[in-house]
Amino acid sequence: MARYTGPVCKLCRREGEKLFLKGQRCFTPKCSFERRGYPPGIHGKGSQYRRRRESDYNRQLRAKQKARRTYGVLERQFRRYYDVSLKRRGLTGVNLLQILESRLDNVVFRLGFAANRAQARLLVTHGHFDVNGRRTDVPSMLITPGDEIAVRAGSRKRTFFKDLAAIAEERTTPDWVSRDVKDLKGTLVRLPERAEIDGNLNEQLIVEYYKR
Ligand code: SF4
Repeated sequence: MARYTGPVCKLCRREGEKLFLKGQRCFTPKCSFERRGYPPGIHGKGSQYRRRRESDYNRQLRAKQKARRTYGVLERQFRRYYDVSLKRRGLTGVNLLQILESRLDNVVFRLGFAANRAQARLLVTHGHFDVNGRRTDVPSMLITPGDEIAVRAGSRKRTFFKDLAAIAEERTTPDWVSRDVKDLKGTLVRLPERAEIDGNLNEQLIVEYYKR
């Protein structure tokens, strides 16, 4: 259950683009990337002006790191997902993205019950969700089509969850999940198609990285 605990805005600056890891703040002028859109570290500011030829390895590494950071997964777990995706039928890269999307914390985020994946992870680890009627506090749990995720009855009395229905109502959900926002529950209808997953992720480069 290890997770990255460092400054998250640095991750966006390192990847050279907004990864939207902080929810609402990412859409305001307070966003670090808007204010300092260059890599972190003492060589950061100058490096944006330096023209460097990017190696294939660097492009593959950055693609992998970006996906890992977007979903908040550490290297060992990510590698494990890659191994599982190799064994599944179909395209390895797409399988990998589908596995990442089917993590419980991600599904909670996609259902609009959290502002970002980090918050979804926290809510799950604090035991606020049931999966198919059973309490679970494992954010990496893989959800399969048909599984129902619901805010636990005891948690609904808390202030955060009392206001959540109104907040979640304003968040859009992808077609591959369905939700009952009043009842604070939702279902994974099916795994997402590639076109329904973040187009900025390059799964092909990730596969190339691990195939080296
Ligand atoms: Fe990235 Fe959001 Fe921080 Fe901006 S506010 S740098 S998008 S995490």
